[in-house]
Amino acid sequence: MSDPRNAPGTLEVALGSRSYPIHIGPGLLGDPRWLTPHLAGRQVMVVTNETVAPLYLSRLRQGLGDNLEVRELVLPDGEATKTLASVERIWDALLAAGFNRRCTLIALGGGVIGDMVGFAAACYQRGVAFVQVPTTLLAQVDSSVGGKTGVNHPRGKNMIGAFWQPRAVLVDTDTLATLPPRELSAGLAEVIKYGLIRDADFLAWLEGAMEALRGLDPAALTRAIERSCALKAEIVAEDETEQGVRALLNLGHTFGHAIEAHQGYGNWLHGEAVGTGMLMAAELSARLGWLSDAEVARTRAIIEAAGLPLAAPADMGVDDFLAIMRLDKKNLDSRLRLILLRTPGEACIHDATPTETLAALLEAFPR
Ligand code: NAD
Ligand code: MG
Repeated sequence: MSDPRNAPGTLEVALGSRSYPIHIGPGLLGDPRWLTPHLAGRQVMVVTNETVAPLYLSRLRQGLGDNLEVRELVLPDGEATKTLASVERIWDALLAAGFNRRCTLIALGGGVIGDMVGFAAACYQRGVAFVQVPTTLLAQVDSSVGGKTGVNHPRGKNMIGAFWQPRAVLVDTDTLATLPPRELSAGLAEVIKYGLIRDADFLAWLEGAMEALRGLDPAALTRAIERSCALKAEIVAEDETEQGVRALLNLGHTFGHAIEAHQGYGNWLHGEAVGTGMLMAAELSARLGWLSDAEVARTRAIIEAAGLPLAAPADMGVDDFLAIMRLDKKNLDSRLRLILLRTPGEACIHDATPTETLAALLEAFPR
């Protein structure tokens, strides 16, 4: 699907009356056919950041066509801006423009922009329409789909938020051309995650496609994004608010969050921490007798091929890990809840990892 005049691949997130499409393909941004059907009315506010605006804002503007009342808000870049103060800037701009309940917010950017704009939309006048236009691989395969929105609090990441589904997700694969390679690798961590938790065939395909993906081969990217979104859409449709199966999407994330929190957010990218975290989860699964050494080696090889780190931070001891992991919000009571692998392609929720086994894994894991 290299011709931008072709219809893009379209998937659906099936949530009854709140169902929405994910359009995936090249050349979507400048084409009004994909964006305008999802607008609630004439009032549209595009929110993006200082990095993405010069790259893609004018192309998106073309995709909106004429006849609309369009406002733009450009926020600073970075995870540090994912705060309630930034969301207030969005609300201020909406009120200053006199936007009503039939306005539509458009999130143009990575997961930081998507999470904030979604949360702003969830609360503005008790909820208005929004469209996700993700421009990082991580946002295209993960954060833009599923309706988790929110901001960070000084005491914890993503601690303030809401479930609020977008009207549509528009994935223009052309935007990945400008993405720094480190960000691309971070997105690949989440792609690999889908294979590991739920789709052995996809995992096998990914093993052979990693070089093409890192080289931005359009067909390989489209296939990886489509399959990832399809798997996420399936899981979200089954369990929108994470009462059960949606927790599997957290493979590698409890270890990963501990690394991110300890190192200070932004020093390790989220996907990098998840990559190392998935390897830790695989090694722990082996210690519990579920994975063979060969399966762990296979998991390590694909994480390495994606350009992700294979060792935990040198200055992070066993106690550092344990202390932060116990605070993780996935723990429903005092037990540590981990997502582990039965086999590459099938994950499970495990509430009964003995602390000694976990500590031994953390002790032995390379730094
Ligand atoms: P990000 O939004 O910070 O983007 C990474 C960097 O790439 C930024 O500097 C950004 O400006 C830049 N960028 C974006 N698009 C670009 C492009 N096309 N070309 C060049 N540069 C570009 O980070 P991210 O990895 O996209 O998202 C991480 C955030 O997503 C975190 O806050 C995380 O909590 C959140 N997240 C949310 C969910 C969810 O379900 N809501 C899931 C996963 C992650
Ligand atoms: Mg993640």
